[in-house]
Amino acid sequence: MAASPHVTHEVFNQVPPLDGHDVAADQALLAALHREGGGWAEDELHELGRLAGTAGIQDQARLANVHKPVLRTHDALGTRIDEVEFHPAWHELMTVAVRHGLHAAPWADQTPGAHVARAAKFMVWTHTEAGHGCPISMTYACVPALRHAPGLAAAYEPLLTAPVYDPGLRPPATKAGLLAGMAMTEKQGGSDVRANTTRAEPAGAGHYLLTGHKWFCSAPMCDLFLVLAQAPEGLSCFLLPRVLPDGSRNAMHIQRLKDKLGNTSNASSEVEYRQAAAWLVGEPGRGIATILDMVSATRLDCVLGSAAAIRQAVVLAGHHARHRSAFGARLIDQPAMTGVLADLALESEAATTLALRLAGAADRASRGDAAEAALLRIALPAAKYWICKRTPMIIAEALECLGGNGYVEESVLPRLLRDAPLNSIWEGSGNVTALDVLRALRRSPDSADALLAEMAAAEAEPLVAAAAASLRAAVKEVAADPAAAQRQARLLAGQITVTLQAALLVRHAPAAVASAFCATRLGPAPAGGPAAPFGSLPNGLDTAAILERSAVVATK
Ligand SMILES: Cc1cc2nc3c(=O)[nH]c(=O)nc-3n(C[C@H](O)[C@H](O)[C@H](O)COP(=O)(O)OP(=O)(O)OC[C@H]3O[C@@H](n4cnc5c(N)ncnc54)[C@H](O)[C@@H]3O)c2cc1C
Repeated sequence: MAASPHVTHEVFNQVPPLDGHDVAADQALLAALHREGGGWAEDELHELGRLAGTAGIQDQARLANVHKPVLRTHDALGTRIDEVEFHPAWHELMTVAVRHGLHAAPWADQTPGAHVARAAKFMVWTHTEAGHGCPISMTYACVPALRHAPGLAAAYEPLLTAPVYDPGLRPPATKAGLLAGMAMTEKQGGSDVRANTTRAEPAGAGHYLLTGHKWFCSAPMCDLFLVLAQAPEGLSCFLLPRVLPDGSRNAMHIQRLKDKLGNTSNASSEVEYRQAAAWLVGEPGRGIATILDMVSATRLDCVLGSAAAIRQAVVLAGHHARHRSAFGARLIDQPAMTGVLADLALESEAATTLALRLAGAADRASRGDAAEAALLRIALPAAKYWICKRTPMIIAEALECLGGNGYVEESVLPRLLRDAPLNSIWEGSGNVTALDVLRALRRSPDSADALLAEMAAAEAEPLVAAAAASLRAAVKEVAADPAAAQRQARLLAGQITVTLQAALLVRHAPAAVASAFCATRLGPAPAGGPAAPFGSLPNGLDTAAILERSAVVATK
């Protein structure tokens, strides 16, 4: 048969899309899930992982980002409604996330490891797309802060933890499930929340009227918000419902939606309060201390979300390199590429292992474990600083593993790259979180003890022992000169994180992974210099074993 005149070439050496796999088939994640006490959730994790790996849900994730949320300020008659309209794909992603309890569910579950199980599920489901994780995270994080107002917690916690996604603006008490957001950042001050100017006037019985604005208020279709405002006693935390018990809309007006670099499926708004009704949470004048419980839980999700994005990028890069050949060999077998992929895989396993260790600490701290709470106070800001900050670099390198195809939307990597810087900005930008490490050392000496004890468990490895010794010295320097320490805050936060990652990998990862991580992250700087791009690994490491461990197993 004659060839069609329109066919110019045969398509070959292109990489099949990665779908039909189980996102949860991640050896580092599964091992950490069991180690940290959430192993009982493995079946559900695989169920979610298989769903996250389907072409259908990946397409929903694409649609939720292509069709951005739209603000509808008024209805046809000109009445103010302040609603945001989402593509059905957003609602589908939210439905699954809430049904699987990725929002506040662990707070209603007494099973040890409930927060770890939720953390692993959150990571797996983040492989669909990260934007809808914002209201999911904020709902998870608001519960410990809301408990500072036992009456409000009793009324709303059962609905915040319910596994039902019930969108739409209706009185909270009439809904089957609720979502919560947070509003702290104002035009003149984000990190410096004490600069907030929103006023709260007492209106009787713990009820206040709020007047002012918020410059970033994400997921404004949530039912409830924790808001900071200046009460007569000082900055205080309030619960502000979108709809009042009588069914009328609270005076929270959405001015516009932000036009963002990434995180496009999610709506981030600017809002104004014009005597909006709100209820006090915690003591008046103690707003920062109250909302810090929410900030801490969202920081954990920043680490989990970034670790998930790193893993996804590494999986996509590995998949491409296994299926694409150049210069007569598969890319994964070209020594220079093997080094890049192995280096990225080390980052991924270290990030996942530490993220789940922190989730385990959060789980145990929530059940009264003081040592784990102390560890969290220092290790969480350090990890939030380091892991979230490295994510864009890692994703950019993974993108390049796909060559030109990585630069194209169908590869998903452009979306991952656009989303990547956000976790570092949210809930304390880089400097602010690094400075929080110093604050933890100053205010809570048991944090340093908990951190060093964690490292001591791996000091049989000489590189970890040496790194821990230099960390002990650095901690003493902070105490001696707190002002000078500010300039070193990032260095210290990075040092804490990498040493902790190394210590965890020495104890829990295969020898090939642990020794390569220690040799390249704790040992003398490689020839390319300490700031060399990924892939500058020395010879002699077992890169084949590292790559074998990081691969996903197709289940199609
Ligand atoms: C997409 C998106 C969604 C968001 N959603 C919400 C939301 O729902 N609710 C909400 O409340 N906020 C939200 N935010 C706001 C976010 O939390 C803030 O942008 C962030 O906390 C930083 O505050 P800022 O923008 O005012 O920056 P600034 O505080 O002005 O900081 C600017 C830079 O200065 C650095 N810096 C600040 N203080 C110091 C210091 N003492 N020493 C050294 N360096 C310092 C910071 O690290 C940063 O790099 C959102 C932001 C984005 C981008």
